[in-house]
Amino acid sequence: MRTTALLSRDPAAPFTVETVDLDAPRADEILVRIRAAGICHTDLVNRAAGKADRPVLLGHEGAGIVAEVGAAVTSVAPGDHVVLTFRHCGTCPNCTAGRPAYCRRSTALNHFGRRADKSPRVTVDGTAVRDGFFGQSSFAGYALATADNAIVVDPGTDPAVAASFGCGFQTGAGAVLNALRPEAGAWLAIYGGGAVGSAALLAARTIPDVRTIVVETATARRDLAGELGADHVLDPAHADIVATIRELTGGGATHALDTTGILAVLADAFAALTTGATVVAVGLGAGVPPIDVRDMVLQGKTIRGCLEGDAEPGTFIPHLLDLHGRGLLPVDRLVTRFPHTEIEAALAAQRAGRVVKPVLTW
Ligand SMILES: [Zn+2]
Ligand SMILES: [Zn+2]
Repeated sequence: MRTTALLSRDPAAPFTVETVDLDAPRADEILVRIRAAGICHTDLVNRAAGKADRPVLLGHEGAGIVAEVGAAVTSVAPGDHVVLTFRHCGTCPNCTAGRPAYCRRSTALNHFGRRADKSPRVTVDGTAVRDGFFGQSSFAGYALATADNAIVVDPGTDPAVAASFGCGFQTGAGAVLNALRPEAGAWLAIYGGGAVGSAALLAARTIPDVRTIVVETATARRDLAGELGADHVLDPAHADIVATIRELTGGGATHALDTTGILAVLADAFAALTTGATVVAVGLGAGVPPIDVRDMVLQGKTIRGCLEGDAEPGTFIPHLLDLHGRGLLPVDRLVTRFPHTEIEAALAAQRAGRVVKPVLTW
């Protein structure tokens, strides 16, 4: 079938709106009519990486309606409303232990995972498109996914809000609810007030008596953090972050989340922890953070990575959507909709700090 897709033919050039050919679903695949797709930092990282294998079709926060399923698919049916998330194999030790974000085949399945016979799912003018990004490549009117990364949701769910539960919101909320698990009396410091950090803040607000500090450089995002209920909002340009957090918390944060991936920020987050506390990082830029392992050992501090919020998406995404439906996780405040043809405007607005989570609509 033919559909429109946002292709990247050159990392430095704008995305192009093109007509592509999409193959019919194989036995284990599902065809999804995409209604919304969030833009996540990982899309831009992979757009920038390398000039080979173009054009590339990104998008890994898709939401839509199942149009067709392969002969072997039993858990999803045409007409189902779905949120697409990351793929997992379902059989490795981590998957069987309920930790699909740490699937041992994750890279092979999600980093432009190819079909067993290497045939392209998407072509443009007869040329293969690099597809299979997070098992969806959902910057398109239709996408081929699989049952293992499609979460069936209530048909009344707004796809533009639901889409980013597939990655960004799940990552932030899961880092708090699944990994850090702060309890009453905790002090949680969140570094970065983007989509992941803001979702983390909203998740923390669902736990009684957890106090929050958001550290963010952009004025608009600091204002948003305050509106979303952060107890303190700090501008690193005008405060000694470590000293200020130590003072506010009476000795250091009990929990911290770094969403920036900046080495010096992770080091600050670590330094501003109290004894025995944990900082979770959801990403990390190139290099080695300036952190003394002696401090880690002798103060009993922990640094741990957290992928996709440690989520088991089949249960966690419906749980988060339920919280949202009850007004307890207002992530719709983070979403700004753009027609899919306006992707460059969406990216510019995000770069300028005017929007937190741009979502493309079809
Ligand atoms: Zn696995
Ligand atoms: Zn993502």
